[in-house]
Amino acid sequence: MTERLHRQDPYLVEFEATVVGVREHEGRPAVVLDRTAFYAESGGQPWDTGSLGEAAVLAVLEDGKDVMHVLDRPLPVGAVHGRIDAARRRDHLQQHHGQHLLSRAFVEVAGAETIAFHLGSEATTIDLDRPVGPEQVRAAQARANEVVWEARPVRVRTVSAAEARALGAEPPPGVEDGVRLVEAEGFDVQPCGGTHPRTTAEVGVVVVTGTERYKGGTRVLFLCGHRALAAVARQQAALGELVAALSAPLDELAGVARKLKEDVVDGARREKALLERALDGEARRLLADAQEPRERTAGAAAGPPAVVVAAYDGWNPNDLRVLAARLVALSPCVALLGSRAGKAHLVFAQSEGLPHDVPALLRDAAAHVGGRGGGRDNMAQGGGEHVELLDEALARAAAAVRARA
Ligand SMILES: [Zn+2]
Repeated sequence: MTERLHRQDPYLVEFEATVVGVREHEGRPAVVLDRTAFYAESGGQPWDTGSLGEAAVLAVLEDGKDVMHVLDRPLPVGAVHGRIDAARRRDHLQQHHGQHLLSRAFVEVAGAETIAFHLGSEATTIDLDRPVGPEQVRAAQARANEVVWEARPVRVRTVSAAEARALGAEPPPGVEDGVRLVEAEGFDVQPCGGTHPRTTAEVGVVVVTGTERYKGGTRVLFLCGHRALAAVARQQAALGELVAALSAPLDELAGVARKLKEDVVDGARREKALLERALDGEARRLLADAQEPRERTAGAAAGPPAVVVAAYDGWNPNDLRVLAARLVALSPCVALLGSRAGKAHLVFAQSEGLPHDVPALLRDAAAHVGGRGGGRDNMAQGGGEHVELLDEALARAAAAVRARA
């Protein structure tokens, strides 16, 4: 059985011990000591890290009554010097004790019990057994911080199960003797094997950063002590960048951002309307050009439908599609449109009631520019890599249409 030095003194970060057992854990060397200040993962609190002699301590796990230290290299049986990563220990101590205070505060303000606690490397959470609202969260946070700033003494003592119950702390199932209680004087007492500070003041501050619905209750995310400070530093940096990017003081940032978003939406709407007008004008111009020679030769309005052929530079396929739809709606015609934009794009369409196989025409033209395409009934699109063959592909399609007309 390993003696747990951290239970008596959570501030002990260097100690002498003896390696009494050599083991292996998942392919890594591990040792058991006669005594240790390393906290083994349990009760939602992660393990300590540090070193034993020359070996780095990668994980610390409960193994029955022993504590197993998983190492990056083997250690022989014998005396060894242990050193705990003090910053990590302090971090865990702040988050874990902050959790005790916040959990008790939620009992006080909302009658909400904590049913789970997780101390992560980034986020720390408690799960409450019932839904809590924003007002209750604010009240619990305020209450927890009040107790932090009162610097109440934190005491650890070991009692029987009956004594624990008499103090209002339900011992873990099956534990009848030697219940370790952690007490924030006059505020909270609960069974816990974790590392805790001398006074509540060491928690620094408790900041709730978010809540979410979870299994019929509420999951509360929070930060304590130096983690809260680090979060403020990150947020200040991000806000500083926003203030500079939007050239607006902090107080006006939200308003300026909202206005900017509205302007963008407005601008997009205007752009769409302008584009539609431009494409409508382009469609009318193309139809006039296509009909002119026919009117000259035939001299009548009831000649064969116009064949509109046009190629553009840099147009995207969507604009070609809108133009084609406009053309076939304005007047009976076949529209054979292309664009050179990185590759060759093709959009073919015909007015309702015309006889051509538009998808077949498109497939043929797309194959000519080294690609593929398809569509349905009166509209098809596609393209290929050979931009230089676009005009030829369009001319061939036009010839095929005129041959059938
Ligand atoms: Zn605890």
